Amino acid sequence: MDPITELLAEVLEEIRPIDSGAPAAYIPELATADPDLLAFAVVGPRGRVRSVGDDRAEFTIQSISKPFVLALALEEHGLDAVLGRVGAEPSGEPFNAISLEPITGRPANPMINAGAIATSALVPGDDVELRTARIADLLSAFAGRSLWVDEAVYSSESLTGERNRALAHLLKSHGVIDGPVDVAVETYFRQCSLLVSVRDLAIMAATLAFGGVNPVTGERVVGERVARDVLSIMSSCGMYDFSGEWLLRVGLPAKSGVSGGLMAVAPSQFGVAAFSPRLDQHGNSVRAVALVEAASERFGMHLLEPHESVASPAMTMHGDDAGRVVRLGGELGYAGAERIVAVLRELSEGLPAGEPLTVDARELGRTHPGALIALRGEFADLPDWVWLKE
Ligand code: GLN
Repeated sequence: MDPITELLAEVLEEIRPIDSGAPAAYIPELATADPDLLAFAVVGPRGRVRSVGDDRAEFTIQSISKPFVLALALEEHGLDAVLGRVGAEPSGEPFNAISLEPITGRPANPMINAGAIATSALVPGDDVELRTARIADLLSAFAGRSLWVDEAVYSSESLTGERNRALAHLLKSHGVIDGPVDVAVETYFRQCSLLVSVRDLAIMAATLAFGGVNPVTGERVVGERVARDVLSIMSSCGMYDFSGEWLLRVGLPAKSGVSGGLMAVAPSQFGVAAFSPRLDQHGNSVRAVALVEAASERFGMHLLEPHESVASPAMTMHGDDAGRVVRLGGELGYAGAERIVAVLRELSEGLPAGEPLTVDARELGRTHPGALIALRGEFADLPDWVWLKE
């Protein structure tokens, strides 16, 4: 076992004894889940999947489908059109609440059921089958393997899904969804019944972490801006009425589902997923929450923690006939521009005056316009034999 997998296994064993909560019972088929199942997986930038526990066990994706179907709607219609139908505000209410804006009937956000039914209704296709196929195709690209519906869970939810049906009728009455209510709601039930494992979820999370490119297959699944938009909404709304405390404690965009799955995203670092069917009062998995919280702590993943790399872009020094060259690599952000100039100032003081010093910024992987402006501005104060090559 490699050291990271060992660390995951260690965290898993720490969390295993927690036995509070119970599997969801309002969808009868979910109540039959083995409550002791426990799994944890992490996927990094090179697409290496590390997983421990019951990592091959399959369960229905449930609400974790919501961010991906949101991505589909965003790709298809753009942010403004989607926001015309569903908001981006945390509801502070349970996942199945009738959280609709007073006059427009717009649901609070796409991570609760009302909003997810509205986003699902934006998926193109004339019938349930075509829409489900569109959704399954996109989620399969996120997972890097072909996903399909668990018919038993689908029927169970469809037979007992009156509350979601009622939500869909309300949405229809406000004109938030077009087309037949049945098509919207059955498509939503089928998307929730797609089967995944914790490994699939970690890869799906990693695809969001790496700007929409699946790190296992190398495929671009959605645009970088769409991935960012989805993560933004997950950050504020992904854990229902626990979203604020989750951000405080764990600091990662995340999404949970009532079958006990949970995925979290450390942008540019990891996709993480956990699975355990026993749920707390919010409908989040007790042990999956504990696993991801422990991982965030140990890997230092809280988004609002200061990160050195943002402030220190890669710099390599070379000397050639034309003088010294400092080559910049990686990403240049605002703080990095300040740091480069501090280093250059020190360097230029140690060099014989007049020996040219070139700063080569042509190989930067990514530059933010504000950072470049800051860098150029700082150059104005450096001796005139220090050059910036862009
Ligand atoms: N299919 C479930 C429902 O609509 C999804 C809810 C969830 O996972 N929180 O009730």
